[in-house]
Amino acid sequence: MVHEAADQFGTAPDLYGRPMPMRRYAVNEMVDAVVIGTGAGGAPLLARLARAGLKAVALEAGQHWAAARDFATDEHSQRKLFWTDERLSAGQDPVPFGSNNSGIGVGGSTLHYTAYVPRPQPDDFQLYTEFGVGVDWPIGYEDLEPYYEELETFLGVSGPASYPWGKARRSAYALPPLPLNGAAQLMQRGCAQLGIRTSPAPNAALSGPYFQEGVGWRAACTNRGFCQAGCTTGAKASMDVTYIPLAIHYGAEIRAESFATRLELDPAGRIASVIYDHHGVEQRQKCRYVFLCAGAIETPRLLLINDLGNSSMQVGQNFMVHTGMQVWGQFEEDVRPYKGIPGALISEDTHRPEQVDFAGGYLLQSIGVMPVTYATQLARGRGYWGEALMRCMRGYNHTAGINILGDCLPYPGNYLELSGEMDARGLPKPRIHFSFGENERRLTAHAEKIMREIWRLAGATDVWSFNRGPHTIGTCRMGHDREKAVVNSEGQSFDIPNLYIADNSIFPSALSANPALTIMALSLRIADRFLATIQ
Ligand SMILES: Cc1cc2nc3c(=O)[nH]c(=O)nc-3n(C[C@H](O)[C@H](O)[C@H](O)COP(=O)(O)OP(=O)(O)OC[C@H]3O[C@@H](n4cnc5c(N)ncnc54)[C@H](O)[C@@H]3O)c2cc1C
Ligand code: SF4
Repeated sequence: MVHEAADQFGTAPDLYGRPMPMRRYAVNEMVDAVVIGTGAGGAPLLARLARAGLKAVALEAGQHWAAARDFATDEHSQRKLFWTDERLSAGQDPVPFGSNNSGIGVGGSTLHYTAYVPRPQPDDFQLYTEFGVGVDWPIGYEDLEPYYEELETFLGVSGPASYPWGKARRSAYALPPLPLNGAAQLMQRGCAQLGIRTSPAPNAALSGPYFQEGVGWRAACTNRGFCQAGCTTGAKASMDVTYIPLAIHYGAEIRAESFATRLELDPAGRIASVIYDHHGVEQRQKCRYVFLCAGAIETPRLLLINDLGNSSMQVGQNFMVHTGMQVWGQFEEDVRPYKGIPGALISEDTHRPEQVDFAGGYLLQSIGVMPVTYATQLARGRGYWGEALMRCMRGYNHTAGINILGDCLPYPGNYLELSGEMDARGLPKPRIHFSFGENERRLTAHAEKIMREIWRLAGATDVWSFNRGPHTIGTCRMGHDREKAVVNSEGQSFDIPNLYIADNSIFPSALSANPALTIMALSLRIADRFLATIQ
């Protein structure tokens, strides 16, 4: 039996596997908050609640890794970072799950994110006002701006002295930019010839040693290039080396390998306890508030399984990805795409391109790629296998890629539902319907032409494109109208007053920027708003 006694102390592993003292709460003790999920949405909020003196417990389905001890520079062994429970895909453009979009473990998908952290631009939040399609957010850029600033400083974001796009910044990035890898240098060359401005990207990996509250000194990036397989040095600001140790420092408890399955209500319709599975044993944690941060697939799935929070019938609706086409080319130069920081160069010149037939826009980014990932792209995108795949992979060291990160509109036909198939726990597997709409097709066609031209001017041969939809977005939309949204602008459920949602599921639109920074900003804002209501 675990967690049976109140006011106990246990330990959690630090980056090297050394035990950090960690507060423990008893399951029969009434804690203030249970946070479900410890990724970009769960971890910042957990630290904020703990700092305010709340008794906070985080339930995380995956393990608590010690990156320096447990991570290898090996894609295969690092598959342990991906959520590989089966998810069923439907629609004309079925979304591949697993390494494409979701992680498991203390730190969630940030364990394997590339750490590109551009801010969205102010007009990103008002797509409907600007174009008459999609929806506006119930909050604007100004509401999140102080949190972007706080995050960039806390995480130690590396970035340029002057960023060419978006609202003028009120503060500098914490650290100077990271060095450009091979693909970034080639993209810079092609863009310059095409008159497209580029900049070293804001990246949440450290270009120098950095002191962090509650954590101590974090080491600089060694340019190892395996960010998507987990960072062994702690230079990448994944949650396991930033907000999680901070939360533990302030008194939060992390319960790893604890899969939340049920939310129990009291007679007044408030959540009274969270039931979870820990190594096959069912546990029940009593709590005053629940913060659901399980990501845009597991959050709606848990609500649908429990038949909760869905008076609007919007739970699971409005599923989105990002438009994310990649264009690859072969170069004379030795590119070595597995080396250097993979998230290196960015351009937002295509944020609102002129004379186009689509709403919204996209940004351009260089890509670093690990060998197994690239071989998989070749098999999926070009249908190569056997000798054809081997031949192409012989050119791997001369390969470079660019991708876009662009808007994707919500459509009624794109949604998550519970299927009739059960998983190993006896819970229904989710089925996700997804088809790109006309807007996404036009945007992607525009971007493909530009990316092919960049590569042609940079000297590429054998250029090919791979269309994809990274990230899982939407499914528990935030909004002002309780008939069209699941949570209000402060992340609080319209139906259950002590339930909050803080993850990628509450995005009303996709935003033409990588999502993690905004998920974290929302998480901190939701925590602050919540704390203001209870203090
Ligand atoms: C390869 C890759 C590269 C990426 N690169 C970037 C990038 O460069 N920049 C960027 O901004 N974004 C990037 N992303 C996306 C980014 O990582 C995610 O958008 C973000 O982490 C999502 O945050 P979240 O809190 O919604 O979910 P997650 O971070 O996925 O966290 C959800 C957590 O909840 C846990 N959980 C789920 N269900 C349960 C349950 N029932 N009980 C207990 N725990 C549960 C999961 O195990 C997980 O730890 C990338 C993603 C991938 C896959
Ligand atoms: S390139 Fe830098 S941030 Fe990425 S895994 Fe290597 S050390 Fe970590």
